[in-house]
Amino acid sequence: MTALVAAISGLYGLVIGSFLNVVIWRVPRHESIVRPPSHCPKCETNLAVRDNIPVVSWLMLRGRCRYCDTAISPRYPAIELLTGVLFAAVGARFSHSWALPAYLVLTAALIALSFIDLEHYILPNRILYPTDGAMIVLLAGASALEHDWGALGRAAIAGAAAFAVFFTIHYISPRGMGFGDVRLSFLLGFSLGWLGWGEVLGGLFTGFLYGAVVGVLLIALKVRERRQRIPFGPFLAAGAMTFVLFGQPLVDWYQHLGR
Ligand SMILES: [Zn+2]
Repeated sequence: MTALVAAISGLYGLVIGSFLNVVIWRVPRHESIVRPPSHCPKCETNLAVRDNIPVVSWLMLRGRCRYCDTAISPRYPAIELLTGVLFAAVGARFSHSWALPAYLVLTAALIALSFIDLEHYILPNRILYPTDGAMIVLLAGASALEHDWGALGRAAIAGAAAFAVFFTIHYISPRGMGFGDVRLSFLLGFSLGWLGWGEVLGGLFTGFLYGAVVGVLLIALKVRERRQRIPFGPFLAAGAMTFVLFGQPLVDWYQHLGR
């Protein structure tokens, strides 16, 4: 059962990953995500179905447009593959939970937000707000089906608490943390809160840890200057995903250490 849910989620993820490529390109440029249909950015030929098969088309065409031979960035199949792998992992983790749709939505949104933040240093509200709405509705539904309203209450408190903490950090150091990160913290606090308090603390702390480690490495390796901005969203997203997927064993392990 778990393997089947993981496999179906993974295939679904490849297709969603292809859609996320469109979102990542168009949303920061204020373009519609439904029209025009997928086309080559160079020669603008509309892509046929056979040109649009996740990962496979890119490999078959050896990373070039079928019509004008322009090189197509390996980022496209990489995002499709990443989405497929993460969806399969979320499918395995939530194979016996009504919360599966909610955490697939969260995963897709965090991938789109992370890549947009890396490139444009923004976390668009056009993605954040609909994801907030979807998570509230889907996790309320999961709470109802699993008769666990406590989880939803905890999610709401965790979302508000994370927002308050991040807002305070932003207030003290607006350069260190943008307001996009503050908005993102509500989504992460809410989503992790539904799972448990250990997941909230672990997921957010791990996000800071990832950011600090990579930040220090980039400066040490002279890839970045100390003054240069490093987007924080992708690290928060990675920390949250770590605890969405592995929260239970990680929280158990941490509690075991404390004894
Ligand atoms: Zn082309």
